[in-house]
Amino acid sequence: MQKTIQGAGGRGYLAIPGPSVMPDAVLRAMHRAAPNIYEGELPDMMEGLTRDLRAVARTKRHAAIYIANGHGAWEAALANVIAPGETVLGLYNGRFGVGWAEMASGLGAEVQPLDFGLKAPADPARLEEALRADGAGRIKAVLCTHVDTSTSIRNDIRAIRAAMDAAGHDALLMVDCIASLGCDRFEMDEWGVDVVVAASQKGLMVPPGLGLVFFSEKAAAQRRAMARVSRYWDWVPRAQPQMFYQYFGGTAPTHHLYGLRAALDMIEAEGLEAIWQRHARLAGAIWAACEAWGAGGPLALNVAECGHRSCAVTALHVGKEYGLRLRRWTEGEAGVTLGIGLGMSTEEDPAGEGFFRIGHMGHVNAGMVMGALGAMEAAFEAIKLPRGGGALEAAARALA
Ligand SMILES: *Cc1c(COP(=O)(O)O)cnc(C)c1O
Repeated sequence: MQKTIQGAGGRGYLAIPGPSVMPDAVLRAMHRAAPNIYEGELPDMMEGLTRDLRAVARTKRHAAIYIANGHGAWEAALANVIAPGETVLGLYNGRFGVGWAEMASGLGAEVQPLDFGLKAPADPARLEEALRADGAGRIKAVLCTHVDTSTSIRNDIRAIRAAMDAAGHDALLMVDCIASLGCDRFEMDEWGVDVVVAASQKGLMVPPGLGLVFFSEKAAAQRRAMARVSRYWDWVPRAQPQMFYQYFGGTAPTHHLYGLRAALDMIEAEGLEAIWQRHARLAGAIWAACEAWGAGGPLALNVAECGHRSCAVTALHVGKEYGLRLRRWTEGEAGVTLGIGLGMSTEEDPAGEGFFRIGHMGHVNAGMVMGALGAMEAAFEAIKLPRGGGALEAAARALA
């Protein structure tokens, strides 16, 4: 299918929810000879990189970087604070919330699930109730996604923190911001989050390969109380290295770091507040179009209330007979690659083919979004999808 994009001429828009579109500045920064890892420019860059990463996560606390994807960051975070046999509470509203908890059980933790379905954010009242029921304090951590990329639900982290405080529970709050960092407003320190995991290939606009873990003083204390932590995942030397080599527990991901430097420079130049606003504005245009289409046909946003939707990704249902044809058409005929549905199987549609996602994270602007929506309109015409009119006008109005 990739061949068709090239053949279509012009630039493609990889509108899948990660890896996201990479800016030319990031690609250029990575196109270079192997650097010295013992002294000089690269080791000298490191302090600024971690400082600027912490600024994106809105934390003054600690940062550790791993050569890993998001799954690696999940495991890294858990390995530092959860011992085998300990209990974690997993909040589920999509594939990724479940996946992180599965990672915990793979490390020997007991997982207590709290399932909110696939259409609504975590309910703080139910969390509070579950924590109050844990009088013995068995639960060591609450695991949740900020945005679950499979459903595009955005959880209210501030409300989750408030529920934990109201219950007077001592568990750590651990949040997966892999999809949301640099897209949806997130405030690690202000919202009282203890551990944040993220990765390079979504809002940060860098190729997959860097896993990020940010942690609070409370999480650092829980790490110190652990009987043992895997040497490779241990965040202590990475967060407080004696030498550059220790930042990565071995050789650094040299070229990713140059790419990350360029991306962080772009983020700083635009400003995080402006970046959040841009994502909100672009997401609003996409939702306006989808609501207009849906008014006269089967297309439906997965999350009904816009306040519960992520500004980085939108999950939609269009029906089994249309999903695959839609994605084939936009990619093959228009160079717009939409994301597959993930973790959305139903009885009538076990493969979840009737679902798809639009990734609108990171290096995206109004022209790209209008282009993607225009390509979808053309695809709907080609595959004869019944739909409401005025979608592109609605998107344009939302942008204007
Ligand atoms: C993409 C994503 C992951 C998985 O990241 P990988 O880099 O594919 O391992 C986990 N959680 C969320 C919320 C994601 O969006």
